Amino acid sequence: TNAGSEPEERVIEAALRPRNLDDFVGQGRVRQQLSLMLEAAKIRERTADHVLLSGPPGLGKTTLSMIIAAEMNAPLRISSGPAIQHAGDLAAILSSLTEGEVLFLDEIHRMSRPAEEMLYMAMEDFRVDIIVGKGAGATAIPLELPPFTLVGATTRAGLLPGPLRDRFGFTGHLEFYAVEELELVLRRSAMMLDLRVTSSAFSEIAGRSRGTPRIANRLLRRVRDWALVNKLEEIDHGAAAAALEMYEVDPKGLDRLDRSVLEALCLKFGGGPVGLSTLAIAVGEESETVETVAEPFLVREGLMGRTPRGRIAMPAAWEHLGLAVPKDAIF
Ligand code: ADP
Repeated sequence: TNAGSEPEERVIEAALRPRNLDDFVGQGRVRQQLSLMLEAAKIRERTADHVLLSGPPGLGKTTLSMIIAAEMNAPLRISSGPAIQHAGDLAAILSSLTEGEVLFLDEIHRMSRPAEEMLYMAMEDFRVDIIVGKGAGATAIPLELPPFTLVGATTRAGLLPGPLRDRFGFTGHLEFYAVEELELVLRRSAMMLDLRVTSSAFSEIAGRSRGTPRIANRLLRRVRDWALVNKLEEIDHGAAAAALEMYEVDPKGLDRLDRSVLEALCLKFGGGPVGLSTLAIAVGEESETVETVAEPFLVREGLMGRTPRGRIAMPAAWEHLGLAVPKDAIF
C-alpha cells in the first residue's frame, strides 16, 4: 500500500469534515437560512432549491454541499467548472443524475459558455436539448431530467453571469472566520486526532490561520508533527509557536501570495494607487486570483484598501513588512 504523506493528508482532511449543520462552525446566518430551506423542502417532500455558495477557498463550500446532500438523504455528485468544457460533458453528468441527487459544481464561473446555457434550462425546467447532427440537418432532442439540486460554488458571486445567478433559489456568502470560531474548529479536529492541546496553543494556531478552517486544520497537522518528533505529550503555546515559526507562518497568517501582493504594492508601486491588472502582473498571477483569493483577506485585515483609482497599501501594510510608513502615502 502507498504510505505517502499526501494521501494521508487527504484522508485526514476528509475525516475532519463536519457531517451535519450542527457540527459546522460559524457562518451563523448562512447556516440558519440553509437549515430553514432544507427543512421546508423535506416537509413539502420536494427536492431542495438550487444553492449558490460564494467565498474564498477553504471556507467550507464543499463541506456545505456534502452536508446538504446528507441532510436531504440524497446522493452527491461532485464536478467542477474547469472539468466541463463542452456542453456534452455537462449533458453526460446531467443525464445520469437520479431523482433528488445533489450536484456540486465547484468553480462554476469557469464553465464554458455553451455548457452554461445548457445549465440554465436544466436548472429551470429539468430538461436539456441534446443536439444531434450538424449544420442545417441538426436537430435538438429534448431530454427530461429528474429533479435535482445544484450546489454551485464560486470564489465570487459577481463573476457569474446574471442569468445564471438568478436561477439559484438561495445564495450564501461565506465570510472569513473569527479567531474564536477557528478555535472551535481546531478543538473539534484535535479531539478527532486524539491530540492534547492547551487553550493558548489553540489561540496561537487559530490566530495564524488566515480566517480559514482549511488552513487551521493544516497548521494543526504541522504542529502535531512537531510535537511527535519532539516527543511532547501535550501541545502548549511554546510548541505551537515554535512549530509555526519553523514553517514560516506569518503571525497574521499571510501566505506567499498575500505577502508578494503587499510587497509589490509597497515597494514597486510606492503604496499605490495601482490598478488590479498591473498589480497582478507584478506578482505573476491572474487578476482573478489576486482579486478573489488574496485581496478579500488583506482588505479585511486592514492591510490593503480599494479606491476608485486602484489598490492602495494601508499604514498597517508597511508596518507588517517592517517598513516605515511613507509621509506622502495616500490613505
Ligand atoms: P471550500 O470548498 O470552500 O474550498 P472546504 O469545504 O473544502 O472548503 O473546507 C476545507 C476544510 O475546512 C474541510 O476539510 C473542513 O474540514 C474544514 N471546514 C470548513 N468549514 C468548516 C466549518 N465551518 N467547521 C468545521 N470545519 C470546517
